[in-house]
Amino acid sequence: MNATLIDSLRNASAGGLSFTAGVALLAGLMAWLAVEIFRALLRANAERVQNRVTLAKLRAQLHEMKLRCREAEQAQTGWNGLRKFAVVKKICECEDVNAFYLKPHDGRPLPQFKPGQYLTFQLDLPGRDKPLIRCYSLSDSPHQKDYYRVTIKKEKAPPDKPELPHGAGSSFFTDMVKEGDILNVKAPTGHFFLDMAKTNPIVLLAGGVGITPMLSMANAIAASGSKREVFFFFGVRNVREHIHKAELEKLAAENDNIHLQVAYSKPGEKDVKGKDFQHEGRVGIELLKEILPSNNFEYYLCGSGAFMKSLTDGLEAWGVPDSAVHFEAFGPATVKKKTAAPTPEETTHLAKINVTFARSNKTVRWEPSAENLLEFAQAQGVKIDSGCCAGSCGSCVVAIKSGEVNYLKKPDTTPDAGTCLACVCRPKNDLVLDA
Ligand SMILES: Cc1cc2nc3c(=O)[nH]c(=O)nc-3n(C[C@H](O)[C@H](O)[C@H](O)COP(=O)(O)OP(=O)(O)OC[C@H]3O[C@@H](n4cnc5c(N)ncnc54)[C@H](O)[C@@H]3O)c2cc1C
Repeated sequence: MNATLIDSLRNASAGGLSFTAGVALLAGLMAWLAVEIFRALLRANAERVQNRVTLAKLRAQLHEMKLRCREAEQAQTGWNGLRKFAVVKKICECEDVNAFYLKPHDGRPLPQFKPGQYLTFQLDLPGRDKPLIRCYSLSDSPHQKDYYRVTIKKEKAPPDKPELPHGAGSSFFTDMVKEGDILNVKAPTGHFFLDMAKTNPIVLLAGGVGITPMLSMANAIAASGSKREVFFFFGVRNVREHIHKAELEKLAAENDNIHLQVAYSKPGEKDVKGKDFQHEGRVGIELLKEILPSNNFEYYLCGSGAFMKSLTDGLEAWGVPDSAVHFEAFGPATVKKKTAAPTPEETTHLAKINVTFARSNKTVRWEPSAENLLEFAQAQGVKIDSGCCAGSCGSCVVAIKSGEVNYLKKPDTTPDAGTCLACVCRPKNDLVLDA
């Protein structure tokens, strides 16, 4: 630019132009220069603004992607601790049984679960100083993205002891929980679930409210469009106990691969065989032999203690390997079958074990006939909280001061180091518990 200016002046002088003309030319050149500089500044400014806008857009995209990643992660893994869920619908399914439809109060997506898994509720019951922990299986398909559903039966006082109170948790749900209420819920968990990647034929065996995990499995198969063969046996007394009747019948009608076999043990006068139910009597091994083409299936069971015992014994006698039989225990009475009985050597060893309940200041010789540490502690008058009594809810966790335990089944909730779940373990050697 300087060279051009000097050349112009030189040319002007050489041409004999006046000094005034030279100054005018110089001024013109200066003005041109100023305009160019101003333009360059404007361009730089526009670029800076553009860069800022692009950066803000990228930041927004990054934030969105991070949110999506977190949501995807949560959708896979659930959440930690308790999350608030609103009861959006409560439907009476049959006598003393209600289905509860739950949506997350925070409005965020629902994590996937595996069909057969359950939710753990922390219930604040009126008049209790501590929350009550109860587990309830998810009863609908995991493909259902809008809500979780649990189906809960009110557990009445045993008929021979009507003076006892009805079940605390199930009565709370049945009598008090209503639409709009908010509940504290832990993420879906549990080892009893159907592997949806497999295609082998299965047999679902449900007794009473034990239908809940099975219904989730059957619904999951139907919703996925899989043609996996399902023989679904369901035993109840009569139509009054026929949980999710319409849904089951629709499922069977719409899916050729789902063969529903309902057995009523005490049909009512108006219950119609061939319409309401297919078999009179209980779901037992003889019925399975009559209906199934062979014993070569994978079996999933859930029901009362008697139901599970009779069927697991029957399947074993029919030559079905243990590895093909999966079951869920809804309470202590149903877990007994597969908790391996101690060998004579183990019994001798167990009979020498001392269990010290440090806080209660009690040392007692282990009683080999005791089913588990929880039962043993309760028999000694030592208070340990309990919930599911099946190694699921984590209520009976106790700190171990010294010694070790053996688990009777793999707990669904892994206890922290230095603690045990008293409802599903026995002492391995002398034990000191913080109880
Ligand atoms: C993994 C899992 C999944 C489950 N899924 C379902 C499900 O889908 N649907 C469902 O309905 N249930 C399910 N359950 C069972 C459920 O968790 C509860 O165990 C059930 O609802 C009973 O709990 P409750 O608090 O009502 O009864 P509790 O208060 O525990 O009482 C149980 C029984 O003891 C009686 N009782 C009360 N006081 C005494 C006393 N002093 N002495 C002796 N007996 C007494 C009661 O009358 C009642 O019959 C599941 C359990 C587990 C572990």
